[in-house]
Amino acid sequence: MKSLLFDSHAHINLSHYDEDREKLIENIFNSGLEHIVIPGIDYETIYSALDLSKKYKNKIFCAIGFHPTDIHKWEIDTYKKLKKIYFENKDYIVAIGETGLDYYWDKTPKDLQKEIFIEHIKLASELDLPLIIHTRDSLDDTLNIIENNKFKNTRGVFHCFSGDKDFALKCIKNNFYISFAGNITFKSANNLRDVAKYINLENILIETDSPFLTPVPFRGKRNDPSKVFYVAKTISDIKNIDIEEVIQVTNKNAKNLFSISKFI
Ligand SMILES: [Zn+2]
Ligand SMILES: [Zn+2]
Repeated sequence: MKSLLFDSHAHINLSHYDEDREKLIENIFNSGLEHIVIPGIDYETIYSALDLSKKYKNKIFCAIGFHPTDIHKWEIDTYKKLKKIYFENKDYIVAIGETGLDYYWDKTPKDLQKEIFIEHIKLASELDLPLIIHTRDSLDDTLNIIENNKFKNTRGVFHCFSGDKDFALKCIKNNFYISFAGNITFKSANNLRDVAKYINLENILIETDSPFLTPVPFRGKRNDPSKVFYVAKTISDIKNIDIEEVIQVTNKNAKNLFSISKFI
């Protein structure tokens, strides 16, 4: 039997899909995709991700968290509220995130980002869930925080990986998977392809980060989870292994990280 793809990170709850969401999702699941994880970035997207997870039960799952550029929406009782959301929706939530640090946009103070990131790490440990980490122009600070705030069973994935080989090995040592997005197909992304070639397939997840980072040969068009195939294809090309093996192992890795067998 042909293996099915697992898109470990896609924002198909965003307005980019309002016109044709249902049809798109139907097509995706008829064309070789098994699961999608939608990470929340604030309350609104947590609830819309939950709605889709309920509608497409056991096919779409979600994560709850506040994106580092949205933490101005984090309030004094948010930790408690997220816990409540989790316990009321346990059948749909597979991770905490996306959370992390983002110094690119420079609109949120770094100290506040760090503080809220640590809250997410604590919450993930308390609920025994993996973390979906977003990091942009902040690799070292992100890893330092993880290494210095070890709670019980801290684990997760660095989504849309942007570091080098050494950084990838450090993430893996800290119980994190490395997730490659559509940008691994870009002509300029030799550094990312080097990392993917160097690390073991057992440590790799794949994602689209839809609607962003549309892979080659669709650049300029809207991204969607079916295009995660092109991320798998690039990894199979650079590692010189069968595409079937890449799809199968990355699917297994994602199921393992998100404990999918507990849900189905
Ligand atoms: Zn992100
Ligand atoms: Zn994202």
